[in-house]
Amino acid sequence: MKLLSRLVIVITLTATTVAAQTKVTPPKNKYTPEQDVQIGREAAAEVRQQYPIINDDQINGYLDRLGARLVEAAPRELNNPVFQYSFSPVNLKDINAFALPGGPMFVNRGMMEAAQTEGEVAGVMSHELAHVLLRHGTANATKAQGFQIGALAGAIAGAVIGGGWGQVIQQGSQFGLGTWLMKYSREYEKQADLVGAQIMARAGYDPRDLANMFETIQRQGRNGGPEWLSSHPNPGNRTQYITQEASQLAIGPRPSQQRFLQTKTRLSQMGPARTMAEIERNGTVGGNTGGRPGGSAGRIGDNVPAPSRQYRTVQGGQLFTVTIPSNWQALSANNSIKYVPANGYGDFNGQRALTHGVEAGVARASSGNLDQATQTLIDGFVRGNNGMRVAGGGASSQLAGCRAIVTSLQGPSALGGVERVDVHTTLLSNGDLFYVVTVAPEQEVGVYGEAFDRVVRSVKLNDR
Ligand SMILES: [Zn+2]
Repeated sequence: MKLLSRLVIVITLTATTVAAQTKVTPPKNKYTPEQDVQIGREAAAEVRQQYPIINDDQINGYLDRLGARLVEAAPRELNNPVFQYSFSPVNLKDINAFALPGGPMFVNRGMMEAAQTEGEVAGVMSHELAHVLLRHGTANATKAQGFQIGALAGAIAGAVIGGGWGQVIQQGSQFGLGTWLMKYSREYEKQADLVGAQIMARAGYDPRDLANMFETIQRQGRNGGPEWLSSHPNPGNRTQYITQEASQLAIGPRPSQQRFLQTKTRLSQMGPARTMAEIERNGTVGGNTGGRPGGSAGRIGDNVPAPSRQYRTVQGGQLFTVTIPSNWQALSANNSIKYVPANGYGDFNGQRALTHGVEAGVARASSGNLDQATQTLIDGFVRGNNGMRVAGGGASSQLAGCRAIVTSLQGPSALGGVERVDVHTTLLSNGDLFYVVTVAPEQEVGVYGEAFDRVVRSVKLNDR
């Protein structure tokens, strides 16, 4: 009899705990979970190309295990079997993490290093996992009128604005991802906090660790601002309602912190991580375009040697070959490569400036229409470069044996005087826009004109 009544009490307690946790209903969504998976897979491929993903058995294994533990603790009714989870560590200093629809999650090294306990890492990951489970990315897209599946590429191409030469595409992609998938409303944030807290408790972590991590992030925010906060706005009273939720939850047995500590040691043995801002300034590491990543070529303002009369042919990744003066070097960014003489590309007033040289690259074009895609690219260049204007435009020409357009721009040179910029554009067989941009100060066009002609005429595309 005594035993029975104790059993009854236990059962009642469990029932109370379950009833007390806040019920969160996923927002309206016109996408299928399969579409979440597809969008997330495509976006993740892009992220893996652009971000410095860590490839280390111990660190990857650690995140995989921790991720799997959290997925195991996810509310059954939200965890769709089609989701494909992955947990990738990113070699970035910023305290950040993000998840894409359908399951791919990226956790910055800076986040793991800033965490005092495994619970803090688990907290941020649980929060991100909750966004996946509640399908907030595509719920966002559902709210945005006129957004269709397949429009992700369009959103990216439409964002080819802003930034300097060479960063256009990279920023475009981030703008696209950020706008469509990763900027959450305060209402979604609170949902993710609550479901995240519930996941944590079941996995054996105290949800207050999540509140602690948010406070660490907030403190960092005052010294320059991690991007995490711009995509995950604070709904207000975060610590309060997470603590409140935590007090209603039964916390499972706490996992050992040993692997967490080993991983921290491992991370501390790696070379220093860069910040996202540093990588954006230098071009990404991931771009498989040939040439060495990023960088600068000497100092803006120092003497720029005239183009050599010797030429050499170089590969532009898989896509093209080009012949350049032998005293120019190749610098690859994300979807573009610059060919520049010494001191032709470097820092100027806190930005990167290209004063002499050629840039070849690819811009996403959703229209498949050369005139329209060219216009979008030119608009982006004009908007992204202060004082730049179209000086002559739209002449028909040939590039790599295909119909092309040449547009001339003029803008203030970092060296003083006027910069002359010619933009050659043609469509690739997949509908994307291939461009070759030549840049030199107006008064040196005599010296550079011949070299530019030769470079542009030498371009061969491998896509046909
Ligand atoms: Zn969030």
